[in-house]
Amino acid sequence: MYSTKGPKVTVRDYQEGEISLILEDTDLSMANAIRRVMIAEVPTMAIDLVEIESNTSVLVDEFLAHRLGLIPLYSERAKHMKYTRDCVCDSYCDECSVTFVLNKRCTTNETMEVTSRDLMVIGHDQSIRPVEFGDDGILICKLARGQELRLRCIAKKGTGKEHAKWIPVAAAPFEYDPHNKLRHTSLWVEENAATEWPKSKNADLEEVPREGEPFDYTAEPTRFYMGIEAVGSMPADMIFTDALGVLNAKLAGLLVELNRADDLGTAPVAAAAGPVGGYTGGYDGGYAAQANGSQWTARTPAVQSGAAGGAGQWQSSAWSGSQSSGDQWGASRMSGPQWG
Ligand SMILES: [Zn+2]
Repeated sequence: MYSTKGPKVTVRDYQEGEISLILEDTDLSMANAIRRVMIAEVPTMAIDLVEIESNTSVLVDEFLAHRLGLIPLYSERAKHMKYTRDCVCDSYCDECSVTFVLNKRCTTNETMEVTSRDLMVIGHDQSIRPVEFGDDGILICKLARGQELRLRCIAKKGTGKEHAKWIPVAAAPFEYDPHNKLRHTSLWVEENAATEWPKSKNADLEEVPREGEPFDYTAEPTRFYMGIEAVGSMPADMIFTDALGVLNAKLAGLLVELNRADDLGTAPVAAAAGPVGGYTGGYDGGYAAQANGSQWTARTPAVQSGAAGGAGQWQSSAWSGSQSSGDQWGASRMSGPQWG
């Protein structure tokens, strides 16, 4: 049975990049919704457009652009920035992007390593910059004598459902019912499930099933053991609280639309809500289905395509070609990361 006080969160272990917690007195759909929002809908910053002036390294431009896109950037400020598609500017500006430059030339016989530490932020605000791992930075490419790399990178706000580079977590698992009392899992066994399937450490926190205990087919899981492992762009606890904010904003948007439909006496129409809970520019990150008469169509995002950007510009998203074509949008999303 659920508590009348509402859901409860207990933090078991906390480090900046990792958090372990127990979520209680809520149901499976809520725990899974939080997990999925953490993966796919908490906005972060990532390099999305690369303008290459000179590249005489052994790596081709597209390969470099892809590597640059995958570098995690400190993104605590991301939620206060705009999505480029919602911004009033023509292509990108300070309110919706951050620009980095990289200028490196190898002049010695020793191989030079170009890393994320060589990306210089343009402007005074240094809060959005490559995540620092130790002293070396993240390797982008290596240069031999005479080779050079001169480029500009534009980082934009985005979410994991657009491209995996914007996902703030490396892992976001949860476990419930470690003794499998609810029989949600069919254990494949040769002889004995108890010896062949070792219990997780979470099993110590739950009541051990008694011998011959009758199966309670009305029982539901109410206790979830969650873990959040961040990639470094945001502290793990912030990913969790931001996910709750995104979920809250989505539900508030739904409520607004249902109330409006109720007032008009018409069927509900899902559309982007105004600023809710600090998440502006559409509670869904831009992918709200919009009603088009009786037909439901997906809104085409304003993504600048690599081809339209002129020579030397590469969308670091691997799916830019299909993103820009509009009709192919469904297909391109299928090719992106899929989360069950
Ligand atoms: Zn802008």
